[in-house]
Amino acid sequence: MTSTLSAETSWDPESNIPQDVMNYIKSKPFNKYTQINFFFQLVALLKTQKRTGWLNMGIENPESISDHMYRMSIMTLALDPKAWESSERVPDFGKCSKIALVHDIAEALVGDIVPHDAEIDKVEKSKREYKAILYLCQIIESYSAESAHDIKECWIDYECQRTLESTIVKDIDKFELLVQTFEYERMHNRRMDEFYGCRKVIKNEEIKKIADELISQRDEFIKANKL
Ligand code: ZN
Repeated sequence: MTSTLSAETSWDPESNIPQDVMNYIKSKPFNKYTQINFFFQLVALLKTQKRTGWLNMGIENPESISDHMYRMSIMTLALDPKAWESSERVPDFGKCSKIALVHDIAEALVGDIVPHDAEIDKVEKSKREYKAILYLCQIIESYSAESAHDIKECWIDYECQRTLESTIVKDIDKFELLVQTFEYERMHNRRMDEFYGCRKVIKNEEIKKIADELISQRDEFIKANKL
């Protein structure tokens, strides 16, 4: 399944790295501790980059990419294993949590490209993200081949949707968007109907139930505020 991944793009993963971070790594001798510190500085970009979808909607100071991944990670840990008892196997929610924490990590370098971006199509976005994860994991590998492999496998797992755990994280990705949308709707007293379409792509029954509860709360809010 990983054979569908391609990093064939002229896009340069270093093009989005702030100059001071590049200066830092260029001024240091190459060793495992300078490399892992370089990686941690790149992870910081996830804390400062705001999610494009909200900026496009005119939401001021919206959540960052890491805000989104952190809440997803907690959500997967809070899911009830009993809800999966009748399925083939009970998911490993610790694994889900790890996948959630890394699934958008490539955006540290690529940025958050939204589906209707006119300049960068889906294929190019995917190539850039794969090139970025290879770049990031190469840095980590200088410190630990084992952890680099682990992070890369979690990312590919999500990208290729090759395990039960990654399908749960995909659903949580959509659900977290619904939660965040409802929060911004309440905060700004406005409707953002366009984000609710993602409810229908949620596949796992338990997450459908949780999402439907949120949507009924939201319906009440819309009615009460005559929006
Ligand atoms: Zn995401």
